[in-house]
Amino acid sequence: VPPAPHDASGERVPTRDLAGLAPPARPARRWTPRRVVATPAALDHPHGRRIARRVEALGIEVERLRANRLTGVRGATERETYARAKATMALVVSPPSRRKLQPIAPSADWRFDLAEGCPAHCQYCYLAGSLSGPPVTRVYADLDDILASLADYAGRGTVTSRSAGRAAEGTTFEASCYTDPLALEHLTGSWRRAVEHFAGWDAPVQLRWTTKYADVDTFVGLPHAGRTRVRFSVNCRPVSERMEGGTASVPHRLAALRRLALDGYPVGLTVAPIMPLPGWREHYGELLDAVAGAVAGVPGLDLTAELITHRFTPGSKEVLLGWYPRTRLEMDESARSRRYGRFGAVKYVYPRDTMAELRTWFDRELAARLPACRVLYWT
Ligand code: SF4
Repeated sequence: VPPAPHDASGERVPTRDLAGLAPPARPARRWTPRRVVATPAALDHPHGRRIARRVEALGIEVERLRANRLTGVRGATERETYARAKATMALVVSPPSRRKLQPIAPSADWRFDLAEGCPAHCQYCYLAGSLSGPPVTRVYADLDDILASLADYAGRGTVTSRSAGRAAEGTTFEASCYTDPLALEHLTGSWRRAVEHFAGWDAPVQLRWTTKYADVDTFVGLPHAGRTRVRFSVNCRPVSERMEGGTASVPHRLAALRRLALDGYPVGLTVAPIMPLPGWREHYGELLDAVAGAVAGVPGLDLTAELITHRFTPGSKEVLLGWYPRTRLEMDESARSRRYGRFGAVKYVYPRDTMAELRTWFDRELAARLPACRVLYWT
C-alpha cells in the first residue's frame, strides 16, 4: 500500500481525500529538458543570468548561442521536430509586442506571459494552432521589465469588476495562457517572484494561473498576501490518464491544491476540457468526490471552478493530428456544432443538447458535492 500524502504541516491527508484515485506514492514529476539554450540578449538581464545559474546548478548544461536566433530545432520529419522542440528550453527575451496586454475573458482582465510553450504532451493541447513554429518552451529573461509594465493596467478591469462575486479580486492578471507555470518554476523561479510582486503591489490586484503540475514546495510559506489564485487543471480519469502525457497525476495535483489552500492561497479548479465520454457522470462524479476529500477541513477555504468543454478549430485539429497521429481524441466535425468567433473563425463545440446536459449535471453535482465552490464561468 503506498504511503498516504501529507499536507504542508506534515499532517496525514485522510485516505478518503483522494477517493477512488490512487494517492501519490512518489514525488510529483519534474521536467528535465534535454537541451537548454540561452541567447546573448537573455543573459544581459539579471533574471536571465539567475535562470542560467539555476539550471546549471541542476546539472543541466546551458548552451550560449552566438546570436539571438534559435536554431537547430528542426528534425528530418514533423515528429522528430516535435520531439526535439518539446525537449528544448530556450532562455530568451520576450517579444516587444507582449508589453501591450490583451484582455482575456472570461478568466481574467489581462494576460501576461513569463514563458511560452509547455513540456507536457496533452493530446488536446490548447496551444496547438495558437503558437507558430516548433513547440520549444521559451522562458523569458526580462521578468523585471514584464512585472514593472503591469502597473499601467491596475484599476483597468475588463472582466472581473463586471462579474458577480469577483469585484473583490481587484484587477486580475492571468499568467498561464501560453504555458504551464509549475512545469517550469523549478527551472526559472519566475512565478515565485511574480507571487511576491503581486503581494507587495499597492493596489487591489490578483495573479492567476492554472497548472497540471504539482511542484508547489517553493510556494508554501511565501508572503503571497492572498493575491495569487492557483487553479489546478483537472479531468476525469479516462482523460487525465490517457491524454495528459508528461503531467503530474491528478492525485498529485489535488495534494498540491490542498497544500496551497492550507497555506492560505485562494485556489481553484479548471475542469477542462470536459468531454461526454461513456460513463462521464460516474467519472466526473469520482473526480468531484476526490476534490471534496482534498479540501476537507481546510480553514477559510476559497475555492472556485472554471468549467470548459472541449472544442477544436480546423487549425488545432491539423496540428494535433501531426503531433499525435494515433490519438483517440474525438474531433469529428459532423458530431459538433459550429460556433463563430469575433473575426469569423470557426470552432467546433458540442451540440446544444449535450452542452445543456453537461452543464445541468455540473451545476447540480458541484453544488451537492462541493458546496463551498464558486463557479466562475461555463463555456
Ligand atoms: Fe498543452 Fe496545457 Fe497540456 Fe501543456 S499542460 S501540453 S499547455 S494542455
